[in-house]
Amino acid sequence: MSDAPFGTFFIPGPTEVRPDLLSQMTRPVIGHRGKAFEGMFARIEAGLRDVFLTARPVYIGATSATGFMEMAIRNAPEGAILALVNGGFSERFAKVAEACERRVERVVVPWGETFDLNVVESALAAQRFVAVTVAHSETSTGVLTDVRAVAELAHKHGAIALVDSVSGAGGAELTVDAWSLDFVFTASQKALALPAGLAFAVASADYVERAKSLTDRGFYFDVVQYEAFAAKNQTPSTPATSLLYALEAQMGDIGREGIERRWERHAAMRDATVEWVSAVAERRGIDLGVIAAEGARSPTVTAVRLPSGMSAKDVRDAVNRLGFTVGGGYGQLSETTFRVGHMGDHSLDGLRRCLHACENAIAELAERRSLARA
Ligand SMILES: *Cc1c(COP(=O)(O)O)cnc(C)c1O
Repeated sequence: MSDAPFGTFFIPGPTEVRPDLLSQMTRPVIGHRGKAFEGMFARIEAGLRDVFLTARPVYIGATSATGFMEMAIRNAPEGAILALVNGGFSERFAKVAEACERRVERVVVPWGETFDLNVVESALAAQRFVAVTVAHSETSTGVLTDVRAVAELAHKHGAIALVDSVSGAGGAELTVDAWSLDFVFTASQKALALPAGLAFAVASADYVERAKSLTDRGFYFDVVQYEAFAAKNQTPSTPATSLLYALEAQMGDIGREGIERRWERHAAMRDATVEWVSAVAERRGIDLGVIAAEGARSPTVTAVRLPSGMSAKDVRDAVNRLGFTVGGGYGQLSETTFRVGHMGDHSLDGLRRCLHACENAIAELAERRSLARA
């Protein structure tokens, strides 16, 4: 890690990027149809395979994650889709499927909860679906879903599993091949702690084979093209080469940390945040809560419920004045929660400094509130 300042920016994406990675992007531009590029692509792909734990090619797109969300849908076999919806991003996945003219049925659970697998199974048994969409780490609520179990159920009923692991991959345990996930995607600006602008995906060989018979795969997100170009260590159209320089360096760093240790560091940051929430209640008598149910908490993001009447905006502003940035609530939780993105290259100590600032900010707001009441 570099000596330059790092460790103040804790929103759940985009995440803070280390200055040494940012400076990689000033390397000279190269063409993308030559040996130098292909060598770099191969090194990057090897690193990404160790992040996804796959032997399959990894597709690299110049797009935000939503582009590859659309890719997952457009290249999926023809037919209806079952969308598991437990927050803002899993709902987006359902909407993308509808926008691609798929018939979509939803299994919806309240924000903060995860799915009862029996309910998912009944939905799968009730009618024929070609695919199930699911968010691994639902960034709006901080809920982690057991995507391996979801994929097993999907397969049992003849459907495939399309997995949004945008705030999962690189932070939460994920084993694409061993869990038999059919299409998984992520983006650069979440747990991989890179600038925004790149998306990454892995598709099973079977998914790509079946896509070949579709007539409406479109052009930019055609998985068959991505597969063919990855085999040549290239991308179908111009890659975001300067971003790839940062990615190449980060793949080296993640390889040195080791993906399992990276998962452990994220789990420790999640645990520290959850403990902090109860400690604030004890130390200060301020009633904070964790939105995600116990046992289903994402290692990369925590949505923290504020005491009634305390605004998320005021908390963010007060935290800002203390030199840190945390995320606001998302969607229906925007007024009542703030989110701590404890993902990427943050350390446990750095996170503790941020939580300390949050505590001071919240205590000051609570104090002001009680003075105003008195
Ligand atoms: C951030 C995020 C997205 C959207 O990513 P973009 O890069 O903004 O398109 C989708 N799903 C989840 C779970 C996310 O956290």
